[in-house]
Amino acid sequence: MRNYRFRLYPTKRIEQKLEETLDGCRWLYNYFCDKNMSEFDMNYVLVELKIQHPWLYNYHSKMLQMVGKQLTAARRALRTSGVTRNRSSRLYQKKHEDFNSFTYNQTGFRIKGDELWLSKIGLIKIILHRRLINIKQVTVVRNAGKWYALVTCDKKQIFHFINPRKSVGIDAGITKFVHDSENHGFENPQFLNQMIKPLRRSQRRLSRRIKGSHNYTKAKKRMVDLHSKIKNKRNDFLHKLSTYYSERYDIIFLERLRILNMVKNHRFARLILDAGWGTFKIMLKYKAKKLVEVEPAYTSVDCSRCGHSVPKELAVRMHRCDVCGLTLDRDYNAALNILQRGLRAACLPQDLREVTPVENNDWSMKQEAYDFSQGQLTNPYSIKTLR
Ligand SMILES: [Zn+2]
Repeated sequence: MRNYRFRLYPTKRIEQKLEETLDGCRWLYNYFCDKNMSEFDMNYVLVELKIQHPWLYNYHSKMLQMVGKQLTAARRALRTSGVTRNRSSRLYQKKHEDFNSFTYNQTGFRIKGDELWLSKIGLIKIILHRRLINIKQVTVVRNAGKWYALVTCDKKQIFHFINPRKSVGIDAGITKFVHDSENHGFENPQFLNQMIKPLRRSQRRLSRRIKGSHNYTKAKKRMVDLHSKIKNKRNDFLHKLSTYYSERYDIIFLERLRILNMVKNHRFARLILDAGWGTFKIMLKYKAKKLVEVEPAYTSVDCSRCGHSVPKELAVRMHRCDVCGLTLDRDYNAALNILQRGLRAACLPQDLREVTPVENNDWSMKQEAYDFSQGQLTNPYSIKTLR
């Protein structure tokens, strides 16, 4: 099963209907919320409820049943996580802003051309950026005032031929987002830094407003907008980057756990970055033919040629080995280590790739920021060793 997200552009009238549907589902959710019923019982009671509340007939019946499924899943999640996290073991009634999705399963939907048809709701313009087959489910999601369709497709596992020669090691950075074993680096996109100031400002503004006031709502909206803007930009960047790697390489090696020992970095920047890394891994996991996570210990310390340990401060950007004389960018060295370890762990020959580091100190780098103006990552070789 695979989920794809598409942007929806409902008309005013349809949007009204979507909102009403959310309210209807929320009413049902809250009705069943504190009654500990099985999914079967809820479906049974739903039939009775419809007679008492005929307005429920305005909604697709299977869609209403999915609310019961949603509750059952939420209860199950509470049962499994509630004990360890010491949280309360009951579900709470959902307010308007907390209830943001409803689901059509198997029936009641159709996607044709650039339109999504939902039973009892109507036609909605959908931006289909990929072909879909075997659609099992459509979930409509409201997120920061925008509408999306989460489409679940049943995909049979496709068999891939993997060429171990086409493998790459990727090192995660802070100053650079990634640096790989082919000595290509990708800068942290500029929008990160650009967004931090407005984000802090809007956070400050929100904290000064009186909770529940009109100005509070306005400030809150502004903040939600900013967050979703950052998220969209980040996802766009991550999608392009993960596509770049999964199209070029058959095996991708990453560090298993990336412990950020950067303390000075700004809190917001770190939050955005950390979230970015998790997402990047998830994207690679489903896009790449094979993603292998490598034990992270000493990848930036050891020499990638002779294995000699060269401890260095975080500020030291170069790796210089006293034993074999290897001199190269520290992130490049780390990426080479990741690749070598990965190949070793996967029992693949290590000399698949020739390591040709730059030997002299006369060394320069060309760095360019990520270009957003084009539809795709236009400058993949954004950091080049010139000599
Ligand atoms: Zn060495």
